[in-house]
Amino acid sequence: MKLGDLGEFGLIDSIRARVGAAPGVYRGIGDDAAELEIPAGHRLLTSTDLLLEEVHFRFAWTSAYDLGRKAVAVNLSDVAAMGGLPRFVYVGLACPADAEVAQLDAFVTGVLDEAAEHGVILVGGDTCRSPGPWVISVTVEGTAPAGTAVGRDGAHPGDLVLVSGTLGDSALALDLWQQGKTPDPWLATRHNRPLPRIALGRELALAGLATAMIDLSDGVASDLEHILQASKAGAEILSSALPLSPAFRTQLERRPELFDLALGGGEDYELLCTVPAARAEEALSAGTRTGVPLTIIGTVMERGAGFRLRDAAGGVRPLRVRGYDHFCR
Ligand SMILES: [Mg+2]
Repeated sequence: MKLGDLGEFGLIDSIRARVGAAPGVYRGIGDDAAELEIPAGHRLLTSTDLLLEEVHFRFAWTSAYDLGRKAVAVNLSDVAAMGGLPRFVYVGLACPADAEVAQLDAFVTGVLDEAAEHGVILVGGDTCRSPGPWVISVTVEGTAPAGTAVGRDGAHPGDLVLVSGTLGDSALALDLWQQGKTPDPWLATRHNRPLPRIALGRELALAGLATAMIDLSDGVASDLEHILQASKAGAEILSSALPLSPAFRTQLERRPELFDLALGGGEDYELLCTVPAARAEEALSAGTRTGVPLTIIGTVMERGAGFRLRDAAGGVRPLRVRGYDHFCR
């Protein structure tokens, strides 16, 4: 069956039927607005993301189910990067009328599975017909106790720079697809099924460990630069300290130029944070406790020091690697 046969209201009814009642949700899908409760003493954290077919994803490389999961996961990652707890999600979807209902069902199942895995409820959205590509807009709302959310602007000279997980895997998978190759399943999963680091982000925030935090959407060089700009600071990163997966290292041995993907590859959705040196051990333990290892990759410096990379031989070069910019060619 095509979406055109089911109709917009048929689609919305079928989604509503799959979302149950949930605490804090007085009105969800189906009214003019959602009516929600957030815990007393908490603040609301809201983030939104747009995904465009052929710009952000291709069905040749990403299934509709994985796309649903990823569309939600990347938004949850933004709340994680503030140290918040994601609670509610909204999905806007434009797709062609001749889209298969089975494909839409798979997408919705992906959305609902990812939300459910993190205790998040789908409370609203919108759908319309697209004359061409799929367009997906996801908004997430989370909460954090007042005064605990972590921004990008709190890094101080002397803080250490830490990153979770491994770098460049998602960009390497994309690079292989673009060359007509098939990445191994682990790498493909790193691209298609990012894991929002919610528990780790909350631990770092609630314990007051992170002075600044961001999730890696554009690559460590570009995303750390966002922190440095907001914090009016500089930094030095050690190239030998960047955490790389075994799959990434295997490819790197054959193609040394791939190192640029570890620095500037997008869509890792790991957490990058700065932590006072005296509290680095506590932060590393939080990583161990939440099952998401953190690695120290550098040091925050005075702004005048700039932003630089130190290689294993001791050579230093300035880092001004801009990540992906949608409006620049
Ligand atoms: Mg972000």
